[in-house]
Amino acid sequence: MIAGALRDIVIVGAGQGGFQAAASLRQEGFTGSVTLIGTEADLPYQRPPLSKAFLKSGNADQLWLRRADFYEKNAITLVPDCRVNRIDRDNSTVYAGDRRFRYDHLILATGCRNARPPIQGLERALDLRTLSDARRLRTAAARARRCAVIGGGFIGLEFAAVAAGLGLDVIVAEQASRLMARAVSPEISARFADKHRGLNVDIRVGKSAAAIDDAGLHLADGSTVAADLVLLAAGVVPNAELAAEAGLIVENGIVVDEQLRTSDPNISALGDCAAFPMHDRGFRVRLESVQAATDHARHIARRLTKGDAGPYSAVPWFWSDQADWKLQIAGFAQPDDESEMLEDGSVLRFSGARLTAVETINAPKLHMKARRLFAETPAPTRAEALARLDVEERRRMAAGA
Ligand SMILES: Cc1cc2nc3c(=O)[nH]c(=O)nc-3n(C[C@H](O)[C@H](O)[C@H](O)COP(=O)(O)OP(=O)(O)OC[C@H]3O[C@@H](n4cnc5c(N)ncnc54)[C@H](O)[C@@H]3O)c2cc1C
Repeated sequence: MIAGALRDIVIVGAGQGGFQAAASLRQEGFTGSVTLIGTEADLPYQRPPLSKAFLKSGNADQLWLRRADFYEKNAITLVPDCRVNRIDRDNSTVYAGDRRFRYDHLILATGCRNARPPIQGLERALDLRTLSDARRLRTAAARARRCAVIGGGFIGLEFAAVAAGLGLDVIVAEQASRLMARAVSPEISARFADKHRGLNVDIRVGKSAAAIDDAGLHLADGSTVAADLVLLAAGVVPNAELAAEAGLIVENGIVVDEQLRTSDPNISALGDCAAFPMHDRGFRVRLESVQAATDHARHIARRLTKGDAGPYSAVPWFWSDQADWKLQIAGFAQPDDESEMLEDGSVLRFSGARLTAVETINAPKLHMKARRLFAETPAPTRAEALARLDVEERRRMAAGA
């Protein structure tokens, strides 16, 4: 069903992607009703600053994606503090307790939540997914002296850098053999491990958490880390139960096709909860990034208003701020893709002869060049990558020639 035939669009999940879908529908000229339903009480906000600037400042003013009057002006019905608990596909209706919302098209933008690994006393750990979590964590950090972070991924490390900057003793326990192992090359992992050690963060890799009690965090190797604050940042699971219970296909997220349609063409899914086909790569991924959530949302809005929007093919990109280092990733690499470090510490990733990602630290120009390269040349060869990213020239400059 497209354009004229659609009257009511309901979006479940009022986070980054749900908000963008509502805003983009209006930008694309959709004139029917748009209802944006979310469990959280606050206006839709950006999550990235929660583990960065907000932890330092506590100022929520910079977080809102738009002020309250935006929703009114754009005739977007925002329904906060409301959890959708059932989708009735036969009657094209979603239910939240005794409230019901009818749709012609439904967009699922339910994001993800912290995974709960089997750690005794896990209820003592704090989360960092929502604005309420971040407020709680700020208050706890102000009283704490020693923190332990379970998980050396982006969020755990961003928090560790802020906490160390606030003068707290910080240890990070990461189960894998290196930091951010799912997302970056071994070379970038190693650079960040050194960076954090330089900030006095105690980085322990290959260490899983076993229990939390009054003494702090107990590791599976029998050692104990004294801590009065424990942060859980050990990965996430997609909020896909609603979709699964409605009979939609779910496999590490809500499965969508290249148009971001679920197994029911009247329902789309986007962002952190959606497992989508990586264009031209022959596999499906679920990306936890602002870029994926916003580009998915724009693509769905275009399809619903203009008809066929072509296959989703946006270039993936990502950033993480840790102390004074900005990590940026253009493209998408699998953990075992090969890597080649350049003289400035940036890393090119390859799968066979094909460039899959470019990882940079404090090198925004190279990052933007890489994004342009992926946009213009979807499968760049090694030779194209070296030429377009001026690798030889950078080498000559680094050698002082
Ligand atoms: C602390 C933190 C730091 C981050 N930093 C970065 C970064 O530096 N760079 C980057 O690219 N990405 C970052 N991310 C990831 C990025 O914020 C997410 O990828 C993005 O928010 C995903 O958007 P989304 O709309 O898919 O999900 P979300 O923004 O998570 O929104 C999902 C919403 O759906 C709601 N919901 C779930 N189930 C229901 C239901 N049944 N009914 C109603 N509502 C429901 C949830 O409560 C939530 O509000 C960070 C995330 C966090 C938590």
